[in-house]
Amino acid sequence: MIAVIGAGASGLVGAIAAARKGAKVCIYEKNSKIGRKILATGNGRCNITNQNIELSNFHGQQPFFVNSSIKRFNTFTCKDFFTELGIEMVEGQKGRLYPKSLQSSSVVELLVYECKRLGVTFYLDSEVTNITKKGEGFCLHVNEKSLHVNKVLVATGGLAMPSLGSCDSGYTFAKNFGHDIVPTHASLVQLVCKEDLKAIGGVKVEGMIEVLENGQSISSASGDILFTNYGISGSAVLDISRVAGHALLHNRALHVKIDLLPEYSKEQLKNLLKKRQKNSHGKSVALWLDGFINSKLASFIAKELPKKSADELNIKDITKLVYALKNFQLKVTDTKGYKTAEVTAGGVSVDQINAQTLESKLQRGLYFSGEVLDIDADCGGYNLHWAWASGYCAGNEIVK
Ligand SMILES: Cc1cc2nc3c(=O)[nH]c(=O)nc-3n(C[C@H](O)[C@H](O)[C@H](O)COP(=O)(O)OP(=O)(O)OC[C@H]3O[C@@H](n4cnc5c(N)ncnc54)[C@H](O)[C@@H]3O)c2cc1C
Repeated sequence: MIAVIGAGASGLVGAIAAARKGAKVCIYEKNSKIGRKILATGNGRCNITNQNIELSNFHGQQPFFVNSSIKRFNTFTCKDFFTELGIEMVEGQKGRLYPKSLQSSSVVELLVYECKRLGVTFYLDSEVTNITKKGEGFCLHVNEKSLHVNKVLVATGGLAMPSLGSCDSGYTFAKNFGHDIVPTHASLVQLVCKEDLKAIGGVKVEGMIEVLENGQSISSASGDILFTNYGISGSAVLDISRVAGHALLHNRALHVKIDLLPEYSKEQLKNLLKKRQKNSHGKSVALWLDGFINSKLASFIAKELPKKSADELNIKDITKLVYALKNFQLKVTDTKGYKTAEVTAGGVSVDQINAQTLESKLQRGLYFSGEVLDIDADCGGYNLHWAWASGYCAGNEIVK
């Protein structure tokens, strides 16, 4: 008997892979529902994978650990796997692949159907509280009962969004067998800033954002940036949040620099503003900028300039304005944490896991897959891809 702990993305695919090889598999899930996190993915549409799966999309202390799994389970294997379940895929922006139904519920339903077709047994409301070694196999402690199984796949996920069932039990199981845990932090998460941004809360720009550590740029991204009451959100912010979260974990001073108008060079913007001055007709700076940038943002930035009308601005003021528009700096004090994060960075160190088989190097018969490991990925279907790919490889290997 093979026990899979966690009926999430990785556990379900792991169970299917093992059961297809003829193994008897049971899945223990602490939630009363299967695949709760899958249901929440891609805003309910489930960004299953991406057309372009590259090693550079994955992170952790040893990202090359994913190589073996993503070679065995690449985009093509992934498409075939889901086609076999009955899921056709459609492509969205940046190579993102979704089920044609655009419903994450269809992904869960068809994964569950396949598990049941193969005879996989589900135990819901069944939190595994401990795993101990017993003879050749393992003893699982579930709902005050002890159950004997031959092998175990730990697919308990990370800490992101505890409301969906996430918890630290996978790390505890690993530690009990002598595994190291790489310190964790929230990733693909919103950032909290020191400045009071209430006046521009709700304003969204298509900009460029850079993370500055001690004034040095350490990461950048382009796309949506949304100002909120607490700080910043949006796709570009999620993209840089891993690097920001890591720096914050090590108490490093952090700023972000936002280019609100990346389509213009500084010189182009300066010339454009000088040209616009000719038609300013005594307007305040805020009103003069209104129509060019969001009005709330215009008022916010105008506060930094001398109290003059737009036509009175001299070259020094224009240069200052260009700087404010292209170097909008905020001090980052924190991330919004696991409560709203999509992913956990850090986790069970892959040092002590066999990259080919996903088996523990410290305890035979014990396997780990998915987000519980020290692997996280970029936004765009890569995190689910890692969950499916590692689950698939572990499920195939655990039966050997
Ligand atoms: C809101 C949101 C949107 C996302 N959107 C996307 C997206 O569109 N594309 C993408 O690639 N990634 C997305 N992600 C990330 C992706 O969902 C995860 O990386 C992926 O689900 C991880 O799979 P997993 O199987 O390792 O863990 P999980 O899916 O978290 O599954 C782990 C399961 O184990 C159970 N469990 C934990 N401990 C125990 C225990 N002791 N006993 C029994 N059961 C236990 C949990 O309840 C859970 O059901 C999103 C994440 C969130 C939160």
